[in-house]
Amino acid sequence: MNKTLVASTVALLMPLLACATTEVEPEKSELRLSREQQAAKTEVWEPVPEVLSFDEAGVPSDAITLIGDDLSNWRSVKAGEAKWTLQDGVLTVKPGTGDIKTNAEFCDVQLHVEWRAPQPEAGMKGQQRNNSGIFLQQRYEIQVLDSYQNKTYPNGQAASVYKQSIPLVNAMKAPGEWQTYDIIYRAPKFNGENLASPGYVTVIHNGVVVQNHTEIQGTTEWIGAPKYKSHGCAPLQLQDHGNLVSFKNMWVRPL
Ligand code: MG
Repeated sequence: MNKTLVASTVALLMPLLACATTEVEPEKSELRLSREQQAAKTEVWEPVPEVLSFDEAGVPSDAITLIGDDLSNWRSVKAGEAKWTLQDGVLTVKPGTGDIKTNAEFCDVQLHVEWRAPQPEAGMKGQQRNNSGIFLQQRYEIQVLDSYQNKTYPNGQAASVYKQSIPLVNAMKAPGEWQTYDIIYRAPKFNGENLASPGYVTVIHNGVVVQNHTEIQGTTEWIGAPKYKSHGCAPLQLQDHGNLVSFKNMWVRPL
């Protein structure tokens, strides 16, 4: 066969081949899954998430309430009972009695807390203007400070990871108003004495993301560089910095 003949033969056969192909397709389509069946192939039915409910204060049913009718969830870091003032569900620093910590120990958590700095006294400024703090695992401080129109080093203002990470914005409300922190914390992981993975923290201040999966560099030191030292689950700690800062509606969900 010469080339022309081959080409014309192929040209003649092409519609037949095409026809043969289309004749096979109905059989394939019979085997094809419906759209619903296709969608079902990627559906996962287990595990079913636990169903939560909420109390009047909006606390989810699987949360551990940390500030209740008494101070039984807390003790002094120094020794003995927590000596802060608890009245009508509001826990206030009793200056000079020292930091307090939870009896329970936590690793990865979601933490909700509301806090309030009182009206500043005359002359209060910077880090002295109603300072407290929330120490995750007793080591990593999320700063509590009246940072409303109060200049200080930004890596030490409210919602900073103290001396490590400046908040993305200043979401402070005025002194006397309640502020909210919603904190999602992933604890550092250790392999023996070695750091396997640093801690990470997301902080939402008054509904605004101010720390977005921030890597924690180690302990939050006033002086010196942060450092990691191997530890396990540990209490949450609130700071007595000598000021009448209050806390309420504090709850935690281990993750
Ligand atoms: Mg502090």
